[in-house]
Amino acid sequence: MLVFKKAIALQNHLKRVLPAGAAIGFVPTMGALHEGHLSLLTAAKNDTGFSVCSIFINPAQFNNPTDYARYPVQTASDIDKLERAGCDVLFLPPAAEMYSQTYTPPHYHLGVVETVLEGAFRPGHFQGVCQAVDRLLAVVSPTDLYMGQKDYQQCLVVKRLLQLTGRKALRFHMAPTQREKSGLAMSSRNLRLSGAEKETAAALFQTLQHIRQNFASTPRQLLEKEGMDFLKSCGFTPDYVAIANAATLAAPNSASEPLVALVAATLAGVRLIDNLILN
Ligand code: AMP
Repeated sequence: MLVFKKAIALQNHLKRVLPAGAAIGFVPTMGALHEGHLSLLTAAKNDTGFSVCSIFINPAQFNNPTDYARYPVQTASDIDKLERAGCDVLFLPPAAEMYSQTYTPPHYHLGVVETVLEGAFRPGHFQGVCQAVDRLLAVVSPTDLYMGQKDYQQCLVVKRLLQLTGRKALRFHMAPTQREKSGLAMSSRNLRLSGAEKETAAALFQTLQHIRQNFASTPRQLLEKEGMDFLKSCGFTPDYVAIANAATLAAPNSASEPLVALVAATLAGVRLIDNLILN
């Protein structure tokens, strides 16, 4: 695996080693890599034959400075994991390589998916995500982009970004959420939980499973309230438990629409999210 910190060096390398129009599978990350990230990389490599991963802890998407300051950095072990997973190229840009001094962030017209759920609790978050993803796509020019269902709303936002920026040919792949045996979705933030807290955190997945088992026969608001109460009883401070239309994230009108259940809650100062497709 080759590691590049400069965009121009990465682009020159890709031109040198790949024939024009060759497939490139791209996995953007913020590092502290786990099996969830590596599953995206394996899919990218298997589908396209050439995988590029990026690690960039994007300050623009953190609305909470403490969360940014505490975000885990494990570059040496990340490089080791990527090598072993067969990654071809790692892009590891410093912030100055991503955003020049004269960079003025554009405003992306993302619609309702920007402002509900995560967007309501993390104002500006998805604009920040789009700034980084837009820039990374411009540098890497992949044919295929891999993102995790774990960040379901982010997937919808990035699909919208691809439309807005005219990247019609870019194939978007949403890969399934990788979980611990307990059901807890793997996340870099789990590193900040103790063993006992990780066990407790499995309540997020239990909440989602309870919703999936009951959504056809139980009123939506009741299930959402039960979920909030259950998480509070486990020691979480929940932001939301929501059943939403899977395409728009709007509140649904019937159980026969495509539905997703989403949850966000803080445990021991660590904010976690998860979701489950219901039908
Ligand atoms: P992050 O480093 O948290 O920005 O995540 C980078 C990519 O990995 C995003 O597309 C995430 O959705 C994806 N990802 C994170 N956790 C998981 C997981 N448990 N399973 C599958 N994909 C994941």
